[in-house]
Amino acid sequence: MNKLWGFIVAYFLRWFPHGLEPGLRRIGNPGPESPVLVSGNFSLTLKRLIRSLVGQDLWLLVANSRGINVWCAAVGGMFTHHNVIAAIKTSGLADQVRHREVILPQLCAAGMDVKAIREEAGFQVRFGPVRAEDLPAYLAQGKKKTDAMSRFRFDLRHRLDMLLSNNTMFYLIVAIPLAIFWPHRLLAFTLLFWAAAFYLYLLFPYLPGKTGWSRSLYSALAVVLAIPAADFFRAGQPFLHYGWMIAVVLVFSTVGFDAAGILAAMPSDAEAFLHRLGIKRLGSLLQEKTLGRVALDREKCRGDMICYSICPVGVFGELDPDKKITLPWQNACFACGACVKQCPHDALSLQPRP
Ligand code: SF4
Repeated sequence: MNKLWGFIVAYFLRWFPHGLEPGLRRIGNPGPESPVLVSGNFSLTLKRLIRSLVGQDLWLLVANSRGINVWCAAVGGMFTHHNVIAAIKTSGLADQVRHREVILPQLCAAGMDVKAIREEAGFQVRFGPVRAEDLPAYLAQGKKKTDAMSRFRFDLRHRLDMLLSNNTMFYLIVAIPLAIFWPHRLLAFTLLFWAAAFYLYLLFPYLPGKTGWSRSLYSALAVVLAIPAADFFRAGQPFLHYGWMIAVVLVFSTVGFDAAGILAAMPSDAEAFLHRLGIKRLGSLLQEKTLGRVALDREKCRGDMICYSICPVGVFGELDPDKKITLPWQNACFACGACVKQCPHDALSLQPRP
């Protein structure tokens, strides 16, 4: 029963944290020279990580990320170097390995003070690839990341993955009262809700609009305008189904509430909205973070390109002739703060968007 509940929460109700036991685990037959990977304890990604490591011999240090995926937890301040230091010290890792290096998920870089981990726990930090399935190749090529390994892909697989996990809770909030009080409306609502969700999640990169909300709204308007047009041609009255028109707008607004933050390398409209309302957190996935986008202080930049390898959406380009980093895709920045945190020269900051 516990396993079933864990599966349901991890796959369909990702708004609720679900963690596994932190601690040091053996993958295969690790020895004192084997690499040490660090992971958060969100059950879904931890299980995927372990599956992707079949055939490897290494140590897996599971730190407490409060049952949330490392990206959201790190950006929200719930998975930091303190959690990693605590995991290193309490697990007895130093007694198991001769080297002093841990490989952290790249997506947790926003929360990690690598100097503190080095000084307080005695371990150097490397940031590994974004995706767990790239780990075997990353390890095989001497812990070197390709550009592709450093970038998060908001591809169809990711969008389908998020479709159920992000929308099931919203669906249930409406579907349960409907099933109790107006059961004859349940089927229609179910069809409308999931049709809108599939439409937005599958087609999001191709929809018109500069923000997630505008893409959702344009989609809703297209459907809303089709309803009175059909009524007019069929019965001569355009507003026979005005209730459906309202329902369409509400459903698209709900499904598209944080579409930009989830489905593309775009700033989250939802987080900006919550920020304006003074709401700091909504579930485990939405939390207030610094708004704006990254800016470079050229005087401080030394061109060591840590930001280039740490940014999951590829904001940074090559060095310019003065050996300073370039930001050709500055607008793609969604203000996760990872590069700001990891720049050893304080050359980067988050500034309001122009
Ligand atoms: S450039 Fe923006 S998105 Fe990229 S790491 Fe820095 S803050 Fe995050």
